[in-house]
Amino acid sequence: MKIDRVELYELTLPLVEPFIISGGAMHQRQSLLVRLVSADGADGWGECPPFALPFYSEETLPGARELLERVLIPRIEGRAFETPAAVDAALTENVRGNPFARAALETAAWDLVAAEHRSSLVTLLGQALDVTPATAVACGVALGIPADRSINGLRLRVLDALDAGYRRVKIKIMPGWDVAPVQAVAATLAGTGISLTVDANGAYPWPDGLAQLRALDGAGLLYIEQPLAPDELVGHVALAHELATPICVDETLKHAGLARQLVELGGPRIWNIKVHRVGGLTEACRIWRIARAHDITLWAGTMPESGIGSQAPLAMAALPGFDLPSDLEPSTRWYGRNQDLIKLVMSTDGMMTVPRTNLARLVDPHRLQAATRRLR
Ligand code: MG
Repeated sequence: MKIDRVELYELTLPLVEPFIISGGAMHQRQSLLVRLVSADGADGWGECPPFALPFYSEETLPGARELLERVLIPRIEGRAFETPAAVDAALTENVRGNPFARAALETAAWDLVAAEHRSSLVTLLGQALDVTPATAVACGVALGIPADRSINGLRLRVLDALDAGYRRVKIKIMPGWDVAPVQAVAATLAGTGISLTVDANGAYPWPDGLAQLRALDGAGLLYIEQPLAPDELVGHVALAHELATPICVDETLKHAGLARQLVELGGPRIWNIKVHRVGGLTEACRIWRIARAHDITLWAGTMPESGIGSQAPLAMAALPGFDLPSDLEPSTRWYGRNQDLIKLVMSTDGMMTVPRTNLARLVDPHRLQAATRRLR
């Protein structure tokens, strides 16, 4: 592919309500969008979705913009590449971390290949990994910490999620908001067949948080997601053996090197692969191969991105091994009706169809115009 031009956009989509996790709150989806344009007019879209403040990742949106404009875009603009993996190699050379900035361009390169071959992200992934992807993926709801800390309010949200058809319920937890909401939601879900998970976003200290986490061990949780700080490898490995409830890593799983270390250390065996958090689809495929070789259970997480950035995790979630419901949710849940740039729809049985086309054919040009400001 020859990348003639790289366009950069600032995206702002207000959320219908704030999304609160242990480290901070999100009031709007602010992202950067990139559009790679080839010599023959094909285009590939990507999204860079870190948060404005570093409560989830070290990388922030202002920092990602600076790196994209000053370092990463100039590396690929005007150049030809054989494969998206070659784009990934150009972006990672002498660049540590900064996966969200790299993923915007890397995922857009996959989409550009899809556009040039009248293909799709999911088809290209299936070909690259020699597997047959699913046609639709199961969706789970992620419920933030209620601003008013109302357990009854949370229960009502769970009932709404059951009505909507979601296949899994996840609630965000932190010290002081854990045992009581977990017990209430578990009771609400009893007999429905819908499993419950919790996500602490690294809020529990190690080893001092062990007793608090042990208090959740009898609640029948499908897994506990990211209980400890991202860099706490030893604690996560120990916790995977201390508790009966499986441990899932999210923020810890930064790249394939960490995936390999988790396997070698005998650590958590459920992995949340977030395409943007790991730097793009090439790195996500490397992690996928390690997971498949070691029988690790996978599912696809989101930031959540807009409908544009959601396409890469949606395609990834269709691969074999992604056996648990994803975090993908319909656009209306986050942004209300007719606001997203690509509309994500969930069926009443909690499934989302994986598009078999490139992104430019899906993007709503009017919504793009209304929700973005071109920077470059
Ligand atoms: Mg998480």
